[in-house]
Amino acid sequence: MNVLVLNSGSSSQKSCLYEIGDTLPDDPPDCIWEGKIEWAEGKAESSIKNSRGASRKEVLPSAGSRGNAIERLLLSLWSGETHAISSPSEIDVVGHRVVHGGPQYFLPAVVTPEVKSAIESVSVFAPLHNRAELQGMEIVAKLLGPVPQIAVFDTGFHRTMPLAAKTYPGPYEWFEQGIRRYGFHGINHQYCAHRAAQLLGKDLNSLKLVTCHLGNGCSLAAIREGRSVDTTMGFTPLEGLMMGTRSGSVDPGILTYLMRQQHWSGEQLDTVLNQKSGLLGISGISSDMREILAASKNGNEPVKMARAKLALEIYIHRLRSGIGAMIAVLGGIDALVFTAGVGENSHEVRAAVCDSFAFLGLKLDSGKNAQTPMHNDQVISASDSAVRVLVIHAQEDWMIAKECWQLKRAH
Ligand code: ADP
Repeated sequence: MNVLVLNSGSSSQKSCLYEIGDTLPDDPPDCIWEGKIEWAEGKAESSIKNSRGASRKEVLPSAGSRGNAIERLLLSLWSGETHAISSPSEIDVVGHRVVHGGPQYFLPAVVTPEVKSAIESVSVFAPLHNRAELQGMEIVAKLLGPVPQIAVFDTGFHRTMPLAAKTYPGPYEWFEQGIRRYGFHGINHQYCAHRAAQLLGKDLNSLKLVTCHLGNGCSLAAIREGRSVDTTMGFTPLEGLMMGTRSGSVDPGILTYLMRQQHWSGEQLDTVLNQKSGLLGISGISSDMREILAASKNGNEPVKMARAKLALEIYIHRLRSGIGAMIAVLGGIDALVFTAGVGENSHEVRAAVCDSFAFLGLKLDSGKNAQTPMHNDQVISASDSAVRVLVIHAQEDWMIAKECWQLKRAH
């Protein structure tokens, strides 16, 4: 079965094609075709490769629309030197990552006009993402005709959170209006939980896990018996941990203060909290953890160094306190999982976070933790550690492909 996955972000479009046989493989397979477009500073850069080793990179005309760029990307699946199939009819099913399913949609759903209008109706909660995802569905319908399309929701995994974790302690009407904690990154948190159980050789139902998704966006999930029982992101992907450019949780009193005393508009608050805060806002240097780590050690620039160090310390402090809260909610922890750009690549961040859980008997194997880059998913805790620590490569696209394969076979 050929499964095409579309992962549409606010400033990127990733897409890949999996060829899956009659059984799902234990380890995530490589895609047979992979394409990506990134929009930045008025231009779009596209890169495409297939499993035969053909690859192409190009800068797309700045005047072209987002839709045209995506069409061009998908056409290369069956035409040109990077093709992987000979005609669009060879695609059996298309899966879409949908960031927000709102209060109605949690489980993977076949895309129908009804599902699309539900996604549209909650696009005010995640405007940059949900609209891009709907556009992806339109383009697929135009290019591939009546192929089944499946929406897989990033909020879905957290549907099992108890009401106490889902509900904000504002007026009860908020909950009724859909102003509640949804949580995000659910596709990868769920994938990591399954993968951790597989790597540990344990039944997922017997495990208490805390998964740390640390990319540009950062969130934690507390997972018991394979179900999410708490997470740090909430109504929007702004709540919780400090992130690359997002503040994470701040006292809402700051916002009312800025609105009343300094006449800030909603737009201004939104821009600052989402794009000018976090690592970038504190350091004044970058949202990229690699640059923060480098600047925090660069004694030639003491002012920059002090701010980079502070950014790093806040990031670690919030991560430690968030993980502590997740462990308390679970009533213990069997394994701590690090995933996504920072989680997979920064031994410094992992070591600093783990250091404060030594009181639980958690010990890293410093040699295993130091491997850079870490090529395989693996356990990096010491053999006598009371809590296992794992690094797992984020695999949202593969998780979506698996969901599509299962749904398609069931119908
Ligand atoms: P996204 O959330 O957009 O999917 P990623 O999961 O790819 O992003 O994470 C991107 C972030 O990972 C970068 O901004 C960078 O801070 C971080 N990162 C990547 N490589 C390293 C590294 N070697 N050391 C520290 N951080 C890294």
